[in-house]
Amino acid sequence: MPYSRDYRGEYPDNWDEIADRTKAEADHKCVRCGHPHDVEAGYMLTVHHLDKDKSNCAWWNLIATCQRCHLILEGKVDMKQGWMFDHSSWFMPYVAGYYAHQNGLQEDREYVEAHLEELLAIGKPNGLRPLLAG
Ligand SMILES: [Zn+2]
Ligand SMILES: [Zn+2]
Repeated sequence: MPYSRDYRGEYPDNWDEIADRTKAEADHKCVRCGHPHDVEAGYMLTVHHLDKDKSNCAWWNLIATCQRCHLILEGKVDMKQGWMFDHSSWFMPYVAGYYAHQNGLQEDREYVEAHLEELLAIGKPNGLRPLLAG
């Protein structure tokens, strides 16, 4: 993989199981473009690690994408560099989960989806204040 130099961590022993579950939760479709898994048509479903740590199997870190979208994500998204583009709606829960994790907040999917706006605001200057205050 061309961008593998950025990766760290090791896949857990049950990675195949986790990857299968991630794809099943995405209904075996790419979460970015919506294309179903179809190897013959060139849409092989893969799992991208948002924070590039292969040992981190939190739901928000695992993104089921086709190979094409995966390459785009690899090229565009670096969590450590902050955001240079607007979040697409499909992407928001993952980013919000990442912020929740980084800031020691509750990071289960239900909480994250219920607090999407506030969590995404963490990416902006002084964005954490409302959540810590409440
Ligand atoms: Zn795709
Ligand atoms: Zn990836």
